[in-house]
Amino acid sequence: MAITRIEITHHQLPLDPPFPASWDPQPRTRFPVTLVRVYDDSGQVGIGSGDAMYGFGDFQRYFLGQDPLDLERHQAVLANIEFHAGRPWPMDVALWDLAGKILGQPVWRLVGGRSNRIRAYASSGVHRPVAEMVRLARHVHERGFPALKVRFGRPSLEEDLAVVAAIRDALGDALALMVDCNQGWRMPWDVRPPWTLEQALLVARRLEAEGVYWMEEPLHRGDYEGYRQLRQAVSIRIAGGEMTREPYEFRELLTRDCLDVFQPDAVCSLGIGGLRKLALEVAQAGKIFTPHTWGNGIGLMANLHLTAGTVDTPFIEFPYDPPEWSLERRDYPLRQAIDTDEAGYITLSEAPGLGLELDEDRLAATASRQATFA
Ligand SMILES: [Mg+2]
Repeated sequence: MAITRIEITHHQLPLDPPFPASWDPQPRTRFPVTLVRVYDDSGQVGIGSGDAMYGFGDFQRYFLGQDPLDLERHQAVLANIEFHAGRPWPMDVALWDLAGKILGQPVWRLVGGRSNRIRAYASSGVHRPVAEMVRLARHVHERGFPALKVRFGRPSLEEDLAVVAAIRDALGDALALMVDCNQGWRMPWDVRPPWTLEQALLVARRLEAEGVYWMEEPLHRGDYEGYRQLRQAVSIRIAGGEMTREPYEFRELLTRDCLDVFQPDAVCSLGIGGLRKLALEVAQAGKIFTPHTWGNGIGLMANLHLTAGTVDTPFIEFPYDPPEWSLERRDYPLRQAIDTDEAGYITLSEAPGLGLELDEDRLAATASRQATFA
């Protein structure tokens, strides 16, 4: 058994109306997707997606001719490539999908088999006015989601806090609320500094008073001491780690007690193989493991399998903020969009691998020479 070919293609879905992502000063007029396909000599193909994989072509030769089931070896090579060239983890996702197809097993079972069912929270992405945020909150509640994540970063903190207060007034405790402060990292063209510990503390106390379930990325990703002090000062759960790269950085976050909620994303950090181990360590430490997954449906599916198969978690991120961020836009590479049931759950099938079906016509129609942010 051997890997015979790796194919990387780029795609862009035009977005009209644009998607004004709250964490990006530039509204997005297209949604780039990079697809990785790994073929073996029996004709099976594994699918992955996530980062743009620029420069990965130079590293493909380290996988060609290799046993596709030697996942530990591939993970170690990808960890080395990660250091030299960026985030190659869509390749890991494709290899797990391929392994599942070769073995006739769904990935959730390969990673641990704990469950094939997982609950989702609605993750919003747009800074809407208060009344529209309340409408969104009602809508996601009626749709069965147990929780909604809102974004901070409006012109003033009082405007952000007014959104939380208005949703609480309208829905009480019927919907758990999370707040993403988006201070962990920036887009390349956004040079604003992250919050200081004093700023984060001020916001944390207000969110605590509103009974917010977690406060996400209140500080720069590397401000371990700030995170530690913040956690000591407040009782609200602190979440982070969505773009953290290295195992030693996660260890630091764990041993220094920086976070209550760990959010690494299998398509951005350590892959399914690496995060499967981290998920168990996080759970063993009595903390919550629930991946970030703001990308297309392939990444979402990878994180669903990883998490459902390994640990108990209250809920996982489900990007949903129509009309600008609809299921159809998010999952355009797939024949069918991933959706939740009336109680907010997603049930993973027995189909081998990740159980994905690509929409080849849509992919052909959106083919692009490269994938760009905005
Ligand atoms: Mg986030």
